Amino acid sequence: MTTKKKTTNNTVYTQEVRERCVSRDTLPAKIGALFLSLIVFANASYSIAQSTTVRFIDANGKTVAEVQAQSQNKQVYLPVNAVKQVIDPATTHQYNHPRQRLTLKTKDRQIRLQIGRPTVSIEPGAETVTLSTPPILIAQQPMLPIDFFTQLLPILNDVEVIYNSSLNRLQIRPKGTLTAVETNGSQDLVIIVDPGHGGPDDRGCAGSTGILEKDIVLTLAKQLQWTSEKHGIQLHLTRQTDTKKTHFQRIQVAKQNRGQLFLSLHCNTSFSPYQKGIRIYVNNPKGQLRFPSTTKPALTGQRLKILAQADYLKQSKDFADALQTELNFLTETPIQIIDLPLLPLSDAYMPAVVLELGYLSNVEDLEKLSNAEYIVNIAQAITRAFQRYISSIASTQL
Ligand SMILES: [Zn+2]
Repeated sequence: MTTKKKTTNNTVYTQEVRERCVSRDTLPAKIGALFLSLIVFANASYSIAQSTTVRFIDANGKTVAEVQAQSQNKQVYLPVNAVKQVIDPATTHQYNHPRQRLTLKTKDRQIRLQIGRPTVSIEPGAETVTLSTPPILIAQQPMLPIDFFTQLLPILNDVEVIYNSSLNRLQIRPKGTLTAVETNGSQDLVIIVDPGHGGPDDRGCAGSTGILEKDIVLTLAKQLQWTSEKHGIQLHLTRQTDTKKTHFQRIQVAKQNRGQLFLSLHCNTSFSPYQKGIRIYVNNPKGQLRFPSTTKPALTGQRLKILAQADYLKQSKDFADALQTELNFLTETPIQIIDLPLLPLSDAYMPAVVLELGYLSNVEDLEKLSNAEYIVNIAQAITRAFQRYISSIASTQL
């Protein structure tokens, strides 16, 4: 369901000023009104509020609501009406101007806030929540900080919320999808994460700032291991340090640990500085099943090997889909999944996917991949993809 509603703050404000101008039709009053609007203008330019859009999306990436918001001092604020759109359509609100108190009434709760104060109280239950940013007034209208939604939504509705500040996206999903997976044995799925390259001779590609692919993917792999373990998913890394590993050694790690899913991490580079974005490659060995027309394909060892790997194609695609859904949350343009015979994975007898995190030859991608916060976000998205994949396996086994 998509509902669109635009904030009327600006219109309300302009109307107020206009009414003031019309009702007092004397010269001093006109000058007064002009003076007043100049002061307001000066104030407005002092603490600049810029309009922006916040998109609320569901667990599958579908837009639930798009809300016109204001950003001021690097914080995003939403109009009170947004509560109607995303929490409860029956919400009513009262704002007491002199006392600057705002009361929101949903079906079964009352939420009390005060402008400039971080404390929110919820009745019944006398629960209080301290927001990291208090609500403020913009153009005389009470505005709720984004924290109101990230911190209160999980309390009011049984949901979890993740916020992508660079894209102003808020994802609301049923509780449990971000926390530990249910103990039904399926979380014992053995996942191998392979940070590409390593060692002094194999640095992978490099960005103009000197940052190296081998370091980015290792940092991410370690972050991913930490995040996944926190959610009950064990990972095996093919390398823990900046060391050289052959393809054979990487596959050995997978085999020794009886891996059931192989995720290889890389970065891209291109001659074109415009080429950018995440790519997901699915290991599809059948894509390369080409034999010279003169020779009849025989069931050689090589061909058997290819056929054996093709058995994992569906699972590889399922995991790639899960990755795509979760990573799309972090990007402006939808991520592509590309089927390719992936030679480095030709001996991995398990579902296998290569994730190319971005182009180090592109300024935007380079900046993102050099940012520690972005790496944490990517690690969280991949962890959620693991959870999504694990629960899809669990549901087909029922
Ligand atoms: Zn690479």
